[in-house]
Amino acid sequence: MSKDKIILFDDKKNCCACGACMNVCPKDAIRMEEDEYGFLYPQIDETKCVQCGACKKVCAYQNGPKLFEPKQVFVAVSKNKNQLLNSASGGVFAAVATKILKDGGVVFGATLDFENGHANPHHIKIENQKQLTKLQGSKYVQSSIGITYKQTKDYLKKGRIVLFSGTPCQISGLYEYLGKEYNNLYTIDVICHGVPNAKFFDDYLQIEKQRRSADKIEDYAFRDKRKGWGMNGRITLAKGRKQKKVYIPARLNSYNTLFLDGMIYRENCYSCKYARRERCADLTIGDYWGIEKEHPELLKNNMYNEKEGISCILANTEKGIKTCQNIKELLQMNDSSFEKVSRRNGQLNIPSKRPDSREMIMRKYSDHGYIAIEKWFRKKYKKQIIVHRIYNMIPRTIRLKLKAVIKGK
Ligand SMILES: Cc1cc2nc3c(=O)[nH]c(=O)nc-3n(C[C@H](O)[C@H](O)[C@H](O)COP(=O)(O)OP(=O)(O)OC[C@H]3O[C@@H](n4cnc5c(N)ncnc54)[C@H](O)[C@@H]3O)c2cc1C
Ligand code: SF4
Ligand code: SF4
Ligand code: SF4
Repeated sequence: MSKDKIILFDDKKNCCACGACMNVCPKDAIRMEEDEYGFLYPQIDETKCVQCGACKKVCAYQNGPKLFEPKQVFVAVSKNKNQLLNSASGGVFAAVATKILKDGGVVFGATLDFENGHANPHHIKIENQKQLTKLQGSKYVQSSIGITYKQTKDYLKKGRIVLFSGTPCQISGLYEYLGKEYNNLYTIDVICHGVPNAKFFDDYLQIEKQRRSADKIEDYAFRDKRKGWGMNGRITLAKGRKQKKVYIPARLNSYNTLFLDGMIYRENCYSCKYARRERCADLTIGDYWGIEKEHPELLKNNMYNEKEGISCILANTEKGIKTCQNIKELLQMNDSSFEKVSRRNGQLNIPSKRPDSREMIMRKYSDHGYIAIEKWFRKKYKKQIIVHRIYNMIPRTIRLKLKAVIKGK
């Protein structure tokens, strides 16, 4: 008698694409496949499935994740200027990774590669300091986990120290996949307000390439700090044998604007189970938004420079606390509190709100491609585009003075 067919999820709200089910399947019967909007979901090949049920057991998103109450909270910034400038915030990830690599460990995290000019955000492992820049910096798009959970288990079983970093749902997926505690595993999750999908992101980049009559995209940085700590991007394009880097202010860019306005996230991100105080990794890292209000004393003493990025760290486990002690010489660190950090970082309390227009945008994309999204953005955000164009023409020193006047400093 045949057993019941395995259903991995009954609603898109119940799958975050962590890939734990795919990694655990003994018959290699699960593949991640794109839906009509480009989001990845696991699909079972019925001809390979033996209905063992292992994939259902490892779903942290549906079975309930294991969570920890933050024990200590810090403001932090890297003392290594190079690492700081290549990082999205204060360079805390790079500091932890540097220590782990020095101790002979392996570090897993998200990278953004370009294969034949197309973006491929995915998780990889690195084993030396030279490769660290591949993992630095936020990629505001879903990173595919691939078989990195399996690789992590192999390293852990061999006794290697492993640092695994990612979104909270990816860290939770890893723990559920591993199924037991490993003393040699360290984890970091980022405060996360949601992820768009890789196909949507790549289609946006192709429009940027066409607009600039380039032949190929070679690189993209979501946060270029040349003009300060913010959300401005930088695209690297090739035309013939020439390479050019173009700075893209956040609010002049359709992808960034729709990302920041929460319009293009994966369905389950709008009811994310990890958008809360309790955390799933040893350490949680994020931007210290609102530092000027929460810790003006640290800015006054020039201990921290707002223009270069400042991080917050939540140490959620004993391992997390120990890690912070071990990297003290690499970071400028000061005590803070969860209340201060979460005041301007809504994701530590509740999930992003799902805008009414989300469905319309994704449908438009699915029916008419990214070109239709770009047209809609240029029309709908016309005023924003004009204001930000003018704003970006004002020299930075004058802009900062204006900001200070507006803030009443
Ligand atoms: C999708 C996303 C949403 C975020 N939302 C917020 C937010 O609402 N509030 C906030 O304070 N911070 C948010 N962050 C975190 C923030 O952007 C910084 O990554 C964080 O502050 C760490 O900065 P850093 O300077 O220490 O390290 P960085 O070098 O900037 O960060 C690198 C780390 O981020 C991980 N990472 C980068 N991209 C991805 C990805 N696509 N998927 C999984 N892991 C990734 C890498 O594996 C590595 O661990 C978000 C990050 C991502 C990826
Ligand atoms: S294990 Fe992860 S990818 Fe698989 S169904 Fe659950 S949430 Fe989705
Ligand atoms: S039930 Fe077992 S064999 Fe079938 S997809 Fe799930 S893990 Fe694979
Ligand atoms: S918002 Fe939640 S579900 Fe979505 S990517 Fe971030 S942690 Fe995962």
